Amino acid sequence: MDVESDAFEVESPSTATKTRLWASLPAEVRQMILKFVCLPDSGGQCNGMSYPTVAQYASVCLEWQIFFEARTFRRLVLNPESVEEFDAVVRRDDVRLAYIQKLWLRVELSEYECPKCDEPEDVATQRDNNMIFSTCIQTLLGTLKRWDPARHGAQGVELMLSASSPSDTKHRFTRCEMKDDYPFHYAEDLDLAGSIIDYHRTNMSDPVSGLLHLSGLPPLSGDHINRVQGTPLYLQPQNGEKGRFTNQAKSLAAVPMVKGLVIRRQFFREIHIRTLSWLIGRSFVALEWFRFERTISLEPHSQLYFDRERLSLRCSLSTPERSRREFESLIILAAEAALSLPKLEIFELWGICRAKKESRAYVFRYCYEDGRPRITWRSSAEAMGAQRRIIAQWGEVAEKQSHSTLAYDVVPFEETAEKIFKSRGTCIYRHLLLKDLVFDPITQKILENEPYDWRLDEESDASQQGDTPNSNLTPNSANSDLSLLPAELAAFDNEVTAFLQHHQW
Ligand SMILES: [Zn+2]
Repeated sequence: MDVESDAFEVESPSTATKTRLWASLPAEVRQMILKFVCLPDSGGQCNGMSYPTVAQYASVCLEWQIFFEARTFRRLVLNPESVEEFDAVVRRDDVRLAYIQKLWLRVELSEYECPKCDEPEDVATQRDNNMIFSTCIQTLLGTLKRWDPARHGAQGVELMLSASSPSDTKHRFTRCEMKDDYPFHYAEDLDLAGSIIDYHRTNMSDPVSGLLHLSGLPPLSGDHINRVQGTPLYLQPQNGEKGRFTNQAKSLAAVPMVKGLVIRRQFFREIHIRTLSWLIGRSFVALEWFRFERTISLEPHSQLYFDRERLSLRCSLSTPERSRREFESLIILAAEAALSLPKLEIFELWGICRAKKESRAYVFRYCYEDGRPRITWRSSAEAMGAQRRIIAQWGEVAEKQSHSTLAYDVVPFEETAEKIFKSRGTCIYRHLLLKDLVFDPITQKILENEPYDWRLDEESDASQQGDTPNSNLTPNSANSDLSLLPAELAAFDNEVTAFLQHHQW
């Protein structure tokens, strides 16, 4: 279990006198002193703040144990080594489950050396990694299933899942956000740990970056990317207690403690979609929200967020010429779906098509607020083409929902095609009404700053220099693999073509 770095020297209250003095203080004062010990300490990374390590104070007395364990267990990071230790700690006293708010299961997979860094994973490695993953998941579920809302409170826990190998950052990739000491994982860290921009600038400019890669030669194929992305992990049958293999899916424990689930694109490796659906269907039975960032071509490609009243969907678009028609056809499709969502308050569909000076961005929004339905069309290029049809379709949704007439706005983007291209589309995120729901706050920061090498405030200077050498070609950049895109686009194209044929467009 990870805890933060120790920064305080507290004299142990070992003598009887000191103990008596402490006990003589009013309870409120004692609590104030303990809180003071836990205050963040300046001088952390990038001159930011960091929490002192207080775990060891829990052994002083029962009062201190309750106070400091509540602090220590609030945010936990577990890896394959500590997940069993965590299980033992909870078995000794499961009241500790009540303290946990954020839990990150960080599955560390097997290491690899050169030249394997330039080759896809072999079958044996895949099996090993699946076994590490399966053991971690099963152990954690076994621990968390002890949670009882009557004793531990109904709040539950937000679970983050990630998988990576320590070698992923030691060969051709040096991304600091995948390293152990990266300090930004939750929105609260953005205030506490110093400037995320300064941190990335400092760590990007490190010329050594701990690279162990032996060959200075560029990779011959895209296999180095396949290696770092690995193979989607799935639950492997394991030896049961009686020596027989047990089916993992059937033996997954229900864990209603998990209320939120986050899988971010910070780590490239994915969990196999079948395993994910088993976990959600059988284990995370009380999930209230799920944020899932897919890492096609190492960028979030399609994203989905929804709850009962709001739905946000990012779609992929093929070419500038076809993008508007594709986008409009999806708006119509969505209207059909919306007819069966009577509680829908906000629907936001958006898409970006990057093609240098022909880049496009589109946002379509349906909003039902204060009894008034309204649609908004935002685009960087032409106005809505299928305007009449879209208004008619969404007019039906409005009519069904409120018996009132649909209002509509057309608001062009001010962002130029070049800016959309250069920012990889991130410049329009600020126009999304559901932005805060769709994006993990750390992911959003990284996405917005990466295209500018974390020099967004110098963007105007950069743009005056014309097209700077394309950083997409460096191995450090996430955007170098486009090999998966054609398959994605073909799938999307099939969907749109089928729709157009069906509706005789
Ligand atoms: Zn290597």
